[in-house]
Amino acid sequence: MVRLGAAGEAYDLPVVEKISEEHREDAFRVLVATMLSARTQDATTDGAARRLFARARRPASMAALPVSEIERLIYPVSFYRTKARHVRDACRLLVARHGGTVPATMEQLLALPGVGRKTANLVMIVAHRSADSICVDTHVHRIANRLGWVKTRHPEETEQALYRAIDRRFWPRINLYLVTWGQRVCRPIGPRCHLCAIRDLCPRVGVARRAGA
Ligand code: SF4
Repeated sequence: MVRLGAAGEAYDLPVVEKISEEHREDAFRVLVATMLSARTQDATTDGAARRLFARARRPASMAALPVSEIERLIYPVSFYRTKARHVRDACRLLVARHGGTVPATMEQLLALPGVGRKTANLVMIVAHRSADSICVDTHVHRIANRLGWVKTRHPEETEQALYRAIDRRFWPRINLYLVTWGQRVCRPIGPRCHLCAIRDLCPRVGVARRAGA
């Protein structure tokens, strides 16, 4: 994990961490950017989040926007129609239940429309500095299995298995390290094992074809 972290420093931060760093860990921006980021390239998420926040910065003002306007602002993120509705409805709930702030418990976050465990855990880690959370997305799920850390079929299963398999001090950083690695090196198709900083430690479970192999 230490080697992965050091090697990942050569690359740009993933979009949610970048937005958080630029806006002093603003929990609302982290929440919305994470909601927009599912199955979407970082550059597309970044542009969409900037356009949306230029129009409305807080939950109350964003909740007042018509869904059609949010759709227009966040296009072309994937599933932009569903995400626009979820963002508007989540903002309404933040205003109604939490005084326009982003809650800091998994239970409260998971009650927001469009927020699953991946989003809730990332908000806990990046915005609320939780040391007790692991955020598992497709990159973390894939690489943890290739490395043989876990043997799982679904991201939620992977999250629970990683709590058991990985030293607690690395929990909040697993997502940052593996997302960076998954975007650049351990790609879904054609992982670049010849460039990998941990190739001597990796059993490459389930890797059929490697780039440069
Ligand atoms: S050696 Fe290959 S499969 Fe293993 S982590 Fe590195 S890129 Fe991924």
